Amino acid sequence: MTGIRTLADLKARCVIDDVTGCWVYKARENYRHPVVTTPLMGRSVGLGILIALVTTGKAPDKGMTNYAKCGHKACCNPRHRVIGTKQEAQKHWAKPCPPERRARISLARRAGSSVDESVIEAIRLSDKSASSIAAEHGVSKSYACRIRTNKVRAPLMNGASVFAWRP
Ligand SMILES: [Zn+2]
Repeated sequence: MTGIRTLADLKARCVIDDVTGCWVYKARENYRHPVVTTPLMGRSVGLGILIALVTTGKAPDKGMTNYAKCGHKACCNPRHRVIGTKQEAQKHWAKPCPPERRARISLARRAGSSVDESVIEAIRLSDKSASSIAAEHGVSKSYACRIRTNKVRAPLMNGASVFAWRP
């Protein structure tokens, strides 16, 4: 997980949660407090510092933290991040939402999408190339890739590995 220089680099390493809009950073270990190596600092930094770097060009001032107001410590959505003190950050720690309830919310959100679940399923199971899938189903190639890697429209209940935990 090296080489993050821009917000787009960072977003590409996240799974977008369609309930909360969180960009959940995928880390193999230490996932509650992901630490990332970036050429911008030449050392490992926490996500808060990294997000501040790629959005404003500088790390938060001493004593300040760039916390997730959504409460999700692995969230990289800059719209969910605020600079504040550690005490302010603590007030925003989220309570977990039960997986069934999350699944219901996701389904309701997805009902408004022009791409329905059967198409999503077909794209996920297809072994054709991303370009032929895109042509066949009328979606963009990058959207097809993101469906196949479960970065968007992830399976609801067995997607629990991504959605079940909260910091
Ligand atoms: Zn968030």
